[in-house]
Amino acid sequence: MNNTDISHRFIINDSGVRGQWTLLDASYQTVLAKHDYPLEVQSVLGEMMAAAILLSATLKFEGSMIIQARGEHVVSLLSVECTHDHKLRAIARWDGDTQGMDFRTMLGNATLAITITPLQGERYQGIVPLDGTTLSECLEHYFQRSEQLRTQIQLFHGNNRAGGLLVQVLPAHSRIKVDPQQQLEEWERITTLARTLTAEELLNLDCATVLRRLFHEESVELFPAEAVAFECSCSRQRTADALAQIGRGELEEIIAEQGRIEVTCQYCNELYRFDAVDVAMLFTHGATDSDGESKTIN
Ligand SMILES: [Zn+2]
Repeated sequence: MNNTDISHRFIINDSGVRGQWTLLDASYQTVLAKHDYPLEVQSVLGEMMAAAILLSATLKFEGSMIIQARGEHVVSLLSVECTHDHKLRAIARWDGDTQGMDFRTMLGNATLAITITPLQGERYQGIVPLDGTTLSECLEHYFQRSEQLRTQIQLFHGNNRAGGLLVQVLPAHSRIKVDPQQQLEEWERITTLARTLTAEELLNLDCATVLRRLFHEESVELFPAEAVAFECSCSRQRTADALAQIGRGELEEIIAEQGRIEVTCQYCNELYRFDAVDVAMLFTHGATDSDGESKTIN
């Protein structure tokens, strides 16, 4: 396995603190290649992709997670979707000049939503106002409010790479009767060490080296690397389902005017075409295969 496009879980023994490390290269560049994003948007999108990997590892679920920031200024949307097995896709919408702007300025008044859709069970969504100056600060606030777990998140980008390091109090540890003062001191000691991490280190070194540099006096248990990859969850079937929501009359009007309906996936630029027969099939029960492939009717 490469040293990039992976994620590692680790535990700092005897401290009651766990962590997650990730470094994205090809997966990030694939996202950047899909749209002509300004540099500032590229940066925050990369950080949000890294954040999605870090968070999905700590919020246990099987299914998909979406982190979305909706802004009222130049950037109206930053959205990253990731699955429990680290398949990622990401998109940003912006209008205007972002030059020299930081995360907060680009978005203006904004909210941050984290939506988890499990394969089984209820969808869960947490929404918080963006009340930090950086994405990592906003996410730390999110954890404080929703999970009530002390969490430190550091996110980095540069040279077409993005990555991050998260440390968090172990949920079980916070329930054990440990002297709160002692626990707090331990947390502060670990996060002070973690904070010495530089972008240069995170974006260029492997996880074991980074952890050795940060926590050389601790006993750190490092779990095997898990692969991260760009993968878009769009399909012809999903597109057909979305079209069916629009309604038959409206779809038939478009067909009458334009001969066909074309839908481009905004995440990956895949083009899906539907003609008059396809549209008719949308409204015929059982017309499409469950595997998402279209049927050709001649
Ligand atoms: Zn797609």
